[in-house]
Amino acid sequence: MKSLFITGTDTDVGKTVATFTIASLLKNKGIDVGVMKPVQCAGDDAEFLANGLDLKDDFNDVNPFYADEPLSPNVAFARAKKTINISKIFDSYKRLSASHDLILVEGAGGWMVPLKKDYLVSDLARQMGLDVIIVSRLGLGTINHTLLTIEQVRQSGLNVVGIIFSETTKTKKGVPELTNPDVIKQFGDVPVLGIIPYLSKVDQKTVLAKCKDIKLSNIVSPKKKSATKTMIADDKKYLWHPFTQMKDWLEEDPLVIKYAMDNYLIDTDGNKYLDGVSSLWVTVHGHCHPTINKALCTQLAQLDHSTTLGLANTPSIELAKKLVEITPKGLDKVFYSDSGSTSVEIAVKLAYQYWQNIGKTKKTKIVHLANSYHGDTLGSVSIGGIDLFHKVYRNLIFKAEKLNFPDCYRAPKGKEYPEYAFACLEDFEHMLKKKSDTIAAFVVEPLVQGAAGMIMWPDGILTKMAELCTKYDVLFICDEVATGFGRTGKMFAVEHEGVVPDIMCLAKGITGGYLPLAATLTSNRIYEGFLHDYKDMKTFFHGHTYTGNPLACRAALASLKVFEEEKTLNKLQPKIKYLKELLAPLKKNKYVGSIRQKGFMVGIELVKNKQTKQPFDWQDQIGVKVCRQAREYGVIIRSLGNVIVLMPPLSMSKKELKTLTDAVSKALSVVLPTPV
Ligand SMILES: *Cc1c(COP(=O)(O)O)cnc(C)c1O
Repeated sequence: MKSLFITGTDTDVGKTVATFTIASLLKNKGIDVGVMKPVQCAGDDAEFLANGLDLKDDFNDVNPFYADEPLSPNVAFARAKKTINISKIFDSYKRLSASHDLILVEGAGGWMVPLKKDYLVSDLARQMGLDVIIVSRLGLGTINHTLLTIEQVRQSGLNVVGIIFSETTKTKKGVPELTNPDVIKQFGDVPVLGIIPYLSKVDQKTVLAKCKDIKLSNIVSPKKKSATKTMIADDKKYLWHPFTQMKDWLEEDPLVIKYAMDNYLIDTDGNKYLDGVSSLWVTVHGHCHPTINKALCTQLAQLDHSTTLGLANTPSIELAKKLVEITPKGLDKVFYSDSGSTSVEIAVKLAYQYWQNIGKTKKTKIVHLANSYHGDTLGSVSIGGIDLFHKVYRNLIFKAEKLNFPDCYRAPKGKEYPEYAFACLEDFEHMLKKKSDTIAAFVVEPLVQGAAGMIMWPDGILTKMAELCTKYDVLFICDEVATGFGRTGKMFAVEHEGVVPDIMCLAKGITGGYLPLAATLTSNRIYEGFLHDYKDMKTFFHGHTYTGNPLACRAALASLKVFEEEKTLNKLQPKIKYLKELLAPLKKNKYVGSIRQKGFMVGIELVKNKQTKQPFDWQDQIGVKVCRQAREYGVIIRSLGNVIVLMPPLSMSKKELKTLTDAVSKALSVVLPTPV
């Protein structure tokens, strides 16, 4: 049975009496109910509940935090020089839950009451993940407060089980008392569980006699046991998952995620998992961040979508300005789309058409690196260099030029890293010398080739590449879809070397991980190559229906605000160092060939033989097995072949980083036991 959170529309609306009443009625049905009043300011509500219900729990668990003055908890506790420790509340709650069927947790005051700095009653309820009962006055003036509370509880992502009205004084029922419950039921779209009449004496016997009509069916309807099973069955019946051999998928039961909070994902059974890959490299400040949530709720009420084809909209303008401000000087214009793949396709089309527009029509080829990954649409596959993903489509794609690029782990015989890596620059210059007049652009993932298995570049290569592009008048496209927005320790990877590309692609982390949005930024030079008379047909005829979506742009703006408010990048630096320390001992593992890290991007490459660097056969799915095992330790990660990828949200704490690396270490020792 699921525990419940009891809140009120105000203070003194009868929460404690309602809690007592529900508990008594449930007890009478043979249910073992416990109660908890985590925070109390003055009064004896918790004692009254514990004694009146004959509970034998440790009273420190029933009421872990008490202050003497009847004030808002943040003020009362500050004045009493006491602090409310939230994790202590959770410890108490855990102990109580273990000895009862369900717990009624009574809040303090109303829903938006501060318990401490930046922490409201609603935050506690949200972290507990409980269903909510709202206790409300019956008389005149209650509709507004009740509807506001219902709205706010739902905005916290929680379910309102129903409203209980409480008559706190003995007065004759007038029109409001008789009509309010129906009005609230209708406008709030909630069940009314009943009315607790004025009770001159509150004890179990009286309550059982006078509150028989309170509807408990909503509260204790046995939890549908098979909810997860049904979800899984429907998933298998209706969905086709990306990058997934569905034959394998059908043989196992997936986790079905229903909630998320901070750096955790929570499944339909209530299990909590640390999100070690930022939900595929997108989550930046943690899930359901209050600042982004609030910004989105407000935006949602203002403008859902309006096209940027022929019209402008406010969030997309604000964001474009901001993106130009925070990206390297020299990127002046923002072209929106909705995924990393489209942002790269746009970059490629812009580069190609730019040369056509200015009359250098022979410059048509795009150069990409070996092992590159720029997305899955055909245009981005054309400049992709990962055979496993790209080979089958060979006959569908346009022809691009591939530049060999060294694997940072496997140096050719007799050569040393990083020196040999610079050899690719000679190849590049050789290519440019021969045919730069046919090359439109050179596209790279700067510093980290993510999807290739976290291939990391030695310092200086990016700078040299940019210089060669300038020298031979080839446009330089940096795909920062994965590396952007703090991933590498700076806002953008190109900042590590002070490089300014002609075109930059952004997606993944741009909205903090909330909504699909992408941006392709270009220099004025490229933009001006498209400024012609309409009849010249030099317009960039490209646009996606959801281009500049106001909700997505608002999420992006809010995410950038969090970067500033929380000083995300400053706080990240010591955590990057700490992560390095945590990873170091893994090198001792017999099967760990290489550990590569740039900021919060990590690849741990597993090999069969460390001396020869012989890889595991890809069919062995070693990476998959290690990641599966890590779930046993409450951590979600995902591999790329034999490379275990760690891509924590930038908000991950040191303690959580330790949980993450401990899980990897344990999973490795279970999946690949080192023989003694
Ligand atoms: C993920 C990724 C893409 C593709 O982005 P989608 O949003 O999945 O289309 C492109 N480039 C890089 C470097 C990426 O990591």
